[in-house]
Amino acid sequence: MAGSKSYKIATIGSHSALQILKGAQQEGFSTIAICLKGRENVYRQFKVADKIMTIGSYKEIMDIQDSLIKEHAILVPHASLIEYVGLNNVEKFKVPYYGNKNILRFESDRDIEREWLANAGLKLPKIFNNPKDIDRAVIVKFHGAKGGKGYFLAKNEKDFKEKMKSHMTANNEQEKYVIQEYIVGVPMFIHYFYSPLTEELELMGFDKRYESNVDSLGRVSARDQIALPKIDPSYVIVGNIPIVVRESFLPLIMEMGENVIKESKKITKGGLWGPFCLETIMTPEQEIFTFEISARIVAGTNPYINGSPYTWLKYDEPMSTGRRIARDIKQAITAGQLSRVLG
Ligand code: AMP
Repeated sequence: MAGSKSYKIATIGSHSALQILKGAQQEGFSTIAICLKGRENVYRQFKVADKIMTIGSYKEIMDIQDSLIKEHAILVPHASLIEYVGLNNVEKFKVPYYGNKNILRFESDRDIEREWLANAGLKLPKIFNNPKDIDRAVIVKFHGAKGGKGYFLAKNEKDFKEKMKSHMTANNEQEKYVIQEYIVGVPMFIHYFYSPLTEELELMGFDKRYESNVDSLGRVSARDQIALPKIDPSYVIVGNIPIVVRESFLPLIMEMGENVIKESKKITKGGLWGPFCLETIMTPEQEIFTFEISARIVAGTNPYINGSPYTWLKYDEPMSTGRRIARDIKQAITAGQLSRVLG
């Protein structure tokens, strides 16, 4: 089996590519950034890409598969790959792929995702299938909503119906949505890493998202919010802020991650491995509600290119999630078990 020198780590130039490529270089890999035309400069400037391949649209990645295979590339996925190339295409992708592709379906279908998390024993916000049943604050989320744009809060059926009026499609149909209990607390995004080689769950860090405009509404007093023309909250992510969590929460947080991994092995062959994130709200009662899982690297790990407090404790060297992925691949290659980390 060839060493990490003959394999290259490739990823799409956006989301967490700087971190993924830098981490790969730190582990001795050559790197490839697959960039949309006009976006190459960032990857050149930070010297994280040993090679840049330019494409006209994200879907064109399907047309350069043979070149990537010739380069001995291993593709590290992130949200832009799934979102812009599409699940069906990613599933058909021939280039070696880090992670378990079988888990992607579980993450992208809200119903089976919920079943997975519920079976893992996580607390989940209640779902209201019928607006008539709304008896508390709810958040209404639209399936196609880019970055939480258009989400709204409602307190009962009447309020819901009123606010829904502006969410009709061109054919006068309602956009697809889910009505979820609104958990009052603070958002906390938990970053984990699970290696199939070590079979150990690692805590990589935490972040909260900086969302426009909801994170700024508190700067407008209630009096002004009422007086000004209607301001609707939106949840469009513009950045990520690092967090260190109260230490007494850590045992529960580890247990949650371990149960998610255990359950993933029941629902699909090999289960979930690599980086993943539980998107949670922590309440004043110290309960942790999970409203979503990302079964891959999240952009919330980007503040930790030089490692987080938690990875520093474990590794005593800078260890980003991107670097941890590269190390997993390197260790698999060294052990002659590369196929164990590819999906
Ligand atoms: P999502 O599109 O599901 O990632 O949600 C976007 C944002 O809405 C999150 O980052 C949270 O700030 C907020 N949010 C989502 N679900 C809930 C919930 N059930 N309760 C409170 N806030 C939520």
